Amino acid sequence: MTTQSAIAWLNGEWQPLAETRISPLDRGFLFGDGIYEVIPSYQGKPVGLHLHLQRLANGLAAIGISNPYSDQQWQQLVLELISRNQCLANDGAGLAIYLHVSRGADYKRGHAFPVGVNPTVFGYGFAIAPAPTGVLASAKGVAVHSEQDLRWQRCQIKSTALLGNVLHHQAGIVAGCYETILFNGQGELTEGSSCNVFIAKNGVVATPLLDQQILPGITRHILLQLLRANQWPVEERVISRAEVLAADEVWLTSSSKELVPVVQLDGQPVGSGQVGPMWSQAQQLFARHRFDQFH
Ligand code: PMP
Repeated sequence: MTTQSAIAWLNGEWQPLAETRISPLDRGFLFGDGIYEVIPSYQGKPVGLHLHLQRLANGLAAIGISNPYSDQQWQQLVLELISRNQCLANDGAGLAIYLHVSRGADYKRGHAFPVGVNPTVFGYGFAIAPAPTGVLASAKGVAVHSEQDLRWQRCQIKSTALLGNVLHHQAGIVAGCYETILFNGQGELTEGSSCNVFIAKNGVVATPLLDQQILPGITRHILLQLLRANQWPVEERVISRAEVLAADEVWLTSSSKELVPVVQLDGQPVGSGQVGPMWSQAQQLFARHRFDQFH
C-alpha cells in the first residue's frame, strides 16, 4: 500500500488523500500560517494522544486561531483516522496521524488575519517504522551533522512554516547524515531539525530546558517522566557544544522514531562510536510504557 490509498479528513469530509484539494488562497499554502501535529500509533493505539492534543491547542492559541474542535472531537477524529488508515500499517508497521489546522482561505492575499474565515482542518495517516524496541544487537545508530540554529525565536510553536527546519535538515542530508543538530549563537544545544536531543554522560541524562528555542517534544516529555519515575539522574539545563562532543551517548527523540542513538557527530565518533547501553535501557523503558497516560 502507498500513501495514495490513505484516507484523509478535510473540512468535515472523508476523502481519498489523492483526491483532496485546497484553495491556493489557503493561508497555510501562502504563509505557512498554521499548526500541525504528528501522533504515532501502534496496533491501533495512539501514543501520548492527550499531550499531542494539548500542544495542538496551545499552538492554535499562540497564533490566534480559534480551536475548531473540542478535545473530545479531536480524540474521535484521531481514532477514526487510525481505524480508516490501519491498512497502511498491515505488515506490523506503525501508523502516524498527521493533523493540520491553517487559518483558512481568504478571498484575497494579505498579511492581516482575515475576519470571518473558517480554519482549514486536514488529517491523514501514513506508515512509520514498527514500534522501536531498544534491542542493542539490532540497533545501528546514526550520523548527524551540526549547524548554527538560524530559525526564528518561536520554536516552541509547532508551526507549519518549516522552511528553517527544512534547510537545516537538507544540509545534513547533503553531508551524508541522518539529521542536523543545532546550536544557538552562544554554542548551546537547542534541538534537531525534526527532533529533540538528549546527552548521557557518566550515567546522567541531560536535555536542553524548554524555552522558545525548542519544540516541547512529546517523546521528550514522556521520556523525562519515565526516567525520573525510575530514579535515573536527569537534568534539563543549558548544554554546551563541548558537552555534546564529550558525551558518552547522544540520542534524538521524536514521535515517529522514539529514541534514536547517534554514533557520529560531524564525522567524529560519539563516545565509543557504538550504540550505547543507556540508549538501549531507555528505549526499552519507553517501549514498556509508551501507552501509559502521561500528564
Ligand atoms: N523538534 C522538532 C523541530 C520537531 O519537528 C519534532 C517533531 N518531529 C520534535 C522536536 C520532537 O517532537 P515529538 O516528540 O513531539 O515528535
